[in-house]
Amino acid sequence: MKALLGGKGANLAEMTRIGLPVPPGFTISTEVCTYFYDNKKTYPKDLQPQIKAGVVHLEKILGKKLGDLNKPLLVSVRSGARDSMPGMMDTILNLGLNDQTVQALAKASNNERFAWDCYRRFVQMYGDVVMGVQKRADEHLDPFEEVIENLKVERFQGDKHMVDTAMDADALKELVKRFKALIKARTGEEFPSDPRKQLEGAIGAVFGSWMNDRAIVYRRKYGIPHEWGTAVNVQAMVYGNTGEESGSGVAFTRDPASGERVFYGEFLLNAQGEDVVAGIRTPMPVAKLNDYMPKAFKVLESIRKTLESHFKDVQDFEFTIEAGEVFMLQTRNGKRTGLAALRFAVEMEKEKLIDWQTAVKRVPAEQLDQVLAPIFDRKAIKNAKLIAKGLPAGPGAACGKIYFSGDRAVEAAHKGEKVLLVRMETSPEDLRGMIAAVGILTARGGVSSHAALVARQMGKVCVCGVSAVQIDYEKRTLTVGENFFKQGDYLSIDGTSGEVYAGEVKTAASEVVEVLVEKSLDPAKSVTYQNFKKLMDWCAKATRLQVRTNADNPVQTANAVAFGASGIGLCRTEHMFFEGNRIDAMREMILAESTEDRKKALAKVLPYQREDFIGMFKELKGLPATIRFLDPPLHEFLPQSKEQQMDLSKKLGIPVERIMARVAELHEFNPMLGFRGCRLGIVFSEISEMQARAVFEAAAEVQKKGMKVKPEIMIPLIGFKRELDLQVAVVHTVAQEVMKEKKVKLAYMVGTMIEVPRGALTADEIAQTAQFFSFGTNDLTQMTLGMSRDDSGSFLPKYQELDIIKRNVFATIDQAGVGQLIKIAVEKARSTRPDIKLGICGEHGGDPESVKFCHRAGLTYVSCSPFRVPVARLAAAQAAIDDIAKPAAKKPLAKKTASRKK
Ligand code: PEP
Ligand code: MG
Repeated sequence: MKALLGGKGANLAEMTRIGLPVPPGFTISTEVCTYFYDNKKTYPKDLQPQIKAGVVHLEKILGKKLGDLNKPLLVSVRSGARDSMPGMMDTILNLGLNDQTVQALAKASNNERFAWDCYRRFVQMYGDVVMGVQKRADEHLDPFEEVIENLKVERFQGDKHMVDTAMDADALKELVKRFKALIKARTGEEFPSDPRKQLEGAIGAVFGSWMNDRAIVYRRKYGIPHEWGTAVNVQAMVYGNTGEESGSGVAFTRDPASGERVFYGEFLLNAQGEDVVAGIRTPMPVAKLNDYMPKAFKVLESIRKTLESHFKDVQDFEFTIEAGEVFMLQTRNGKRTGLAALRFAVEMEKEKLIDWQTAVKRVPAEQLDQVLAPIFDRKAIKNAKLIAKGLPAGPGAACGKIYFSGDRAVEAAHKGEKVLLVRMETSPEDLRGMIAAVGILTARGGVSSHAALVARQMGKVCVCGVSAVQIDYEKRTLTVGENFFKQGDYLSIDGTSGEVYAGEVKTAASEVVEVLVEKSLDPAKSVTYQNFKKLMDWCAKATRLQVRTNADNPVQTANAVAFGASGIGLCRTEHMFFEGNRIDAMREMILAESTEDRKKALAKVLPYQREDFIGMFKELKGLPATIRFLDPPLHEFLPQSKEQQMDLSKKLGIPVERIMARVAELHEFNPMLGFRGCRLGIVFSEISEMQARAVFEAAAEVQKKGMKVKPEIMIPLIGFKRELDLQVAVVHTVAQEVMKEKKVKLAYMVGTMIEVPRGALTADEIAQTAQFFSFGTNDLTQMTLGMSRDDSGSFLPKYQELDIIKRNVFATIDQAGVGQLIKIAVEKARSTRPDIKLGICGEHGGDPESVKFCHRAGLTYVSCSPFRVPVARLAAAQAAIDDIAKPAAKKPLAKKTASRKK
């Protein structure tokens, strides 16, 4: 239904069906939008008669008529895509008003001011959205707002900040006149007075807004296909601005920031819905409605329950109270923070609203990151200077340099600065700035303002409605009492409490990290941790794909194991040389001129590696460890600047000329395709010998202490079976030697990375030797696409903008290209060695979409950085649950693996 009617249209229909009070209306389907864009912005022939019939039907139900001089029908025209895109597309309210019908509305409502307020809002919205009268690049204010301010100054003692509700009917009449003049001056066209013309224009504008810049940016960020299109909802107007017995609000059935089961939201008396979300007036919490309109509040409380028990998910709904009567204008699944998503899922399962599998699917894997997000360091916050308090709108702690415009925020973030975007209120135009910022602070607006909604969804820290803050956009300054800050100064905000602090406040780990990694918090004291654990336990129950970690030292290993990693999927041994003086021994090895000298230098390197392996094996407690032999080109280890070269020369007692000559000798035009990976071990087999010895000696030592060890030696960059044969022979020889020397028997495996396209294409041959494969999708991506991962920053963003690629291929697997190579390799490998262990260890291993792909491709595990392990575990469990839900869609490969595992 949502695909056809859009989210809003489908849910309006559903609410009507279950007996909730919804104003009558009809929905123009998304198919019309698709047709519109496929056919040079024209409509299908039968649309007009259908709209006409829809209007006639409405007129019949309500006993009103479009354009009628006594009982005019007024409608809203709203967008509504399949997935909600809050604030990104256009809406027109009060449609049907003109100089005549406004009189009828005034008479019918017995409220002239109200009628003219509706009319001026309509002209303003229509002028902006349909006729394109908008702020120009050189203008500071929206042109309609400027007209309002000027009129206020003229008529109301120069007070341009007085509230709009204080304008009387005469002022509003004058506004309508001036708005129409503004439209004529800007567009050369008269404001249309015929309601049918108005309707036609409004529908066209809503379809047109599907392709506006901010909607496109939003879709790109959230992976919503452009082909979906939007529906248009035409619905009878109800009014929240007829007086103090009326109002509008936005509410959530539970708290979307913390996840707590409380009625959450806000409302404004005597206002239309857009006043609440626009954030111009700061609304009251919804619980307060009980003081003003207890009857309406009771109705809403009961609607809240009905919505949850019907939709089985937390709802975000808009309501209007017209003269005491409640109307539902919209409901949708509420956007939520990662923290809230987790709590909703766990508690709704406990309340038996959903089963555990649904609960697992309810937490977006990407959002789980937020549960691991930092908070302010407790000690640091005690000493920090609290300067203001606003509304907590997006949880977490953030500090950064303040910037007052989206563009400047983007620029600063590009330079690598941590940015806090500070705005009076945000509008959808600020989206890019919000994406670039670590946190958002607004002076106005409530918890359901645009800023808050979008921030929460992005997992950004956000504090709204900090009314004590004064912002001067021109001077780029912010003042709170006697505290003064300029662009580039640091501020810190706490989106969980709403507090704003001067300067840079140290952040600390989340509760989950405190319990699991830092072990500084009692698990019994953290609800968040308990929820997290419950979710992870469910994941373990559902998952088929294991999650390992990319770790290069014992600390990283311990962290990953605490997060539930089932082993190490990639230990990049070269990373072990970058600590302390280890690099010197490595450099000595590279500078050695004979095999003998090289062996001597390698003997110095060996203890370092062995020590790390021992630490890692101990942390793993019997879990497997895939250890990759040296990969990067040797010159990466040598000092490049003259100064560093002199330093090294002194340290090692080697003439600087020799160092310079060696650096020059090792220089490569394209190191990515040069002397690296297994090619090093093939030319200098003593390097591989040393690495194998370090692994086996460490394994022997740990095993002797009574602990299990499972080393898996991985040879990188294999493109030919013979390359692997040669390296495997070295490993086996050393293994035999060590076992003999240490008098132990060690179980180990030798396998390879598949990261060269030729390796993937000849996987059947390579699998004759390799006991396992791990897809190195970083290299496999760059080599398949012919795009250097280090140099692609200059063109990849443009590629995404132009839709050449949908997602960053170095973050999310390119399924059609790289994915196909993986599938070919999996099939070929299994044809040779049916039980071959298959994993992936490129950065994609922590990306939910790629993890799901790996599940479907039938891999055994994915490997990712320690802090991504929970995200990958959740994505893997979700993929498994999807599989069970849709057995027919199972790919043969996945089936094979599933049955193999049973
Ligand atoms: C890979 O290529 O995917 C990989 C994991 O290796 P590295 O990133 O170290 O080249
Ligand atoms: Mg690689």
